[in-house]
Amino acid sequence: MPHREATVTSPREPLRCDLLVIGSGAGGLSTAVTAALLGLKVLVVEKAPQFGGTTAWSGGWMWVPRNPLALAAGITEDIAKPLSYLRHELGAQFDEARALTFLENGPRMVEFFRSRTALQFIAGNAIPDFHGHTPNAAAGGRSVCAAPFDGRRLGARIDQLKPPLEETTLWGMGIASADLRHFLNATRSPASLWQVTKLVLRHWRDLLVHQRGMRLVNGNALVAALAASAIDAGVEIRVNSPVRRLLTSRGKVTGAVIGAHPDEGGANLEIHAARGVVLACGGFPHDAARMRALLPHAPTGHEHWSAAPPGNTGDGLRLGEGAGGVVASHMAHAAALAPVSLVPRGDGSTAHFPHLIERGKPGLIAVTGAGRRFTNEADSYHDFMSALLATTPAHGPASAPIHAWLVCDHAFIRRYGLGAAKPAPMPLAGLLRNGYLKRGATLDELAKLCGIDAPGLQATVQRYNQQAILGHDTDFAKGETPYNRMQGDTAAGLTNPCMAPLIQGPYYAVKVVPGSLGTFAGLQVNLHAQALDRDGQAIPGLYAAGNDMASIMGGHYPSGGITLGPAMTFGFIAAHHAAGVPLPQP
Ligand SMILES: Cc1cc2nc3c(=O)[nH]c(=O)nc-3n(C[C@H](O)[C@H](O)[C@H](O)COP(=O)(O)OP(=O)(O)OC[C@H]3O[C@@H](n4cnc5c(N)ncnc54)[C@H](O)[C@@H]3O)c2cc1C
Repeated sequence: MPHREATVTSPREPLRCDLLVIGSGAGGLSTAVTAALLGLKVLVVEKAPQFGGTTAWSGGWMWVPRNPLALAAGITEDIAKPLSYLRHELGAQFDEARALTFLENGPRMVEFFRSRTALQFIAGNAIPDFHGHTPNAAAGGRSVCAAPFDGRRLGARIDQLKPPLEETTLWGMGIASADLRHFLNATRSPASLWQVTKLVLRHWRDLLVHQRGMRLVNGNALVAALAASAIDAGVEIRVNSPVRRLLTSRGKVTGAVIGAHPDEGGANLEIHAARGVVLACGGFPHDAARMRALLPHAPTGHEHWSAAPPGNTGDGLRLGEGAGGVVASHMAHAAALAPVSLVPRGDGSTAHFPHLIERGKPGLIAVTGAGRRFTNEADSYHDFMSALLATTPAHGPASAPIHAWLVCDHAFIRRYGLGAAKPAPMPLAGLLRNGYLKRGATLDELAKLCGIDAPGLQATVQRYNQQAILGHDTDFAKGETPYNRMQGDTAAGLTNPCMAPLIQGPYYAVKVVPGSLGTFAGLQVNLHAQALDRDGQAIPGLYAAGNDMASIMGGHYPSGGITLGPAMTFGFIAAHHAAGVPLPQP
């Protein structure tokens, strides 16, 4: 595909390194840190003015079965169990060799980072797999998250760390999973209020002193810890450095050309990499052409609103194809789907807010324009969106896209929030004024405001309320898996932690449209993460990591953390291969 070449005004001396990593998310930085610690001279180039990519906006959770933190907590399982879970979940897309490579090396990756770098982990031992009814699903012990990280450790480079997505924060402060319940309970529990007060006061102090929060959590902590480790290990990270094309010599990828930067004389810069190049540009969540080709619900490429950063425009896949690589095109889904709402911002831009948390809480339903429920709202974001796409296969134009409404009552929104609308005591007025949030004194009024069929909505709420009182969703089995129940509110004393009736107006609704957390369809690779050509042969000197690598899950979404876990693990594997160092044995 064509690319815009920057004007070359003066030649510049090429840079030289052993390994060139393109992109600074989890895939790129995992590779870079590992390779540097194995003795390679590594350069990371990042197109954006700040490093971190989607990873910096993420929850930072990594699916790594049999990880050292689970083992330390006494959770042991044979590798056959997660392997069997994947076999059942992935069906025809299951590739045993890739799955085993991941399952064997994931724990080694965690051990490597926690013993040799600034990246530390917290356990996700109570986090269940998404599909509790699938054989060998786990109720916990298969996830880790980046531990909170002190941003001061990055020194002046903190300015180059991409901050969390504003709408998912409180005044710019990321909220760790462990603290979320305190934020939700701050108006009802003195202990939670105290915890929240401490966090907020510390954040305000950081804002005064450093102009940003320094207690980094979730994906922001993951990137900061990886970047600090990279810098410690001698990796050079260059921002504002978009790769325009790869350099090849006799069939081998030998480097890349990065675009001109005005501060550096306006000339392109060649980088020569003796051991090869790693594509880690974060997939194609904002590449309209690729979306048109691979997302059936986006016939023009514009009916999809990814929550990933706009700079992820599919460069890595195009660069890889240009060098002979092949993008996997037959996945169950080409993207990690998620319902997204569009939040108008004061500056005229629109934030893409991914609905990851509130859907499973008791007292929310999702309906189509007909006012009918179409799925179990407490299922994963990917399953929720897959169900909506299956329910509304007719693809409308971008101006009238596939959509659904999340509907709740006043008690719910003040207790749990709704999308970008935060729980009490945060005000709703701004989001009502800009039209993001719809409010009606009655269900009829709300339906009219949203263009939902009013009798349909009335009937749905009536039926749902009866089911909620009995605690049994006879339509969609909401609350029947461990994952559902974790997403619900187990402290609310309900028969079903995901179900409560919608009782008292005013009622609220937010429109959700098809979106994603990133993409699955990436370059085909071998077990060392080397990109493959049409004949299945490794392209010398070319690796793919993160979402530039075809997901080992084949377009399925068996558990939270299935992008970052493999991104970190295959980055670790790619680095060993590039360095010519065997992977550690248990
Ligand atoms: C809100 C949210 C929460 C999420 N939570 C989780 C979670 O908890 N667990 C999980 O597994 N997944 C999660 N995800 C998904 C996950 O964040 C992504 O799949 C993952 O971060 C992708 O990592 P990556 O390294 O492939 O790409 P990225 O982190 O997106 O990094 C790619 C980088 O490459 C740069 N780049 C692009 N083109 C070029 C170029 N030409 N030259 C140089 N640089 C370039 C980009 O600017 C970007 O910085 C979440 C996503 C979102 C949006």
